[in-house]
Amino acid sequence: MYWSMAVEQRLYLLFLRPAVRDVAGRAWEMYLTSRHHRCAVTQPTGDMMIKGSCLCGGIRFEIDAVRSLTHCHCSNCRKLSGAAFASYVHVDADKFRLLSGEDLIEQFESAPGSFRAFCRVCSSTAPGKAAYLTTVSIPAGLLDDDPGVRPKLHVFTGSKAPWWEITDGLPQHEKWVPGFAPKPQS
Ligand SMILES: [Zn+2]
Ligand SMILES: [Zn+2]
Repeated sequence: MYWSMAVEQRLYLLFLRPAVRDVAGRAWEMYLTSRHHRCAVTQPTGDMMIKGSCLCGGIRFEIDAVRSLTHCHCSNCRKLSGAAFASYVHVDADKFRLLSGEDLIEQFESAPGSFRAFCRVCSSTAPGKAAYLTTVSIPAGLLDDDPGVRPKLHVFTGSKAPWWEITDGLPQHEKWVPGFAPKPQS
């Protein structure tokens, strides 16, 4: 009996256990792969989604990924935000989804051909897309989640408020970031 138990135990150790471990390991791998795959393909319920909303909550949107976060010091942005500068996240148009409030978004033409979107209920600035850009510009203050990026640069520092000093080491552009100026209308 002792002999057979010892053999059985040895068999178990040599064959059964690794086999079980292999099967379990493969099943776990398959589970992880399917989970990852589901996440990567559809992304509807993932925690990776970045959500945002206006002050009244009427305008709600979600973002898959933020391209960059910038601070604009131009006088239009300063007046619009009422702050020293306005911060925006820039998102590829196909990674932005408006969930509600399309009927609440009004446009103000701040310069010929340049429109500023805002909520007609609470007056929050709203996401907007310039015709010449492939990205949507979203006031960063609307975000309810961490965008996962940090400020990248300052633009229009030539129009900066005299009472504000830029103390971080980020790149500063007097006007447009080269290559991002509006194309002249033909
Ligand atoms: Zn609102
Ligand atoms: Zn600006």
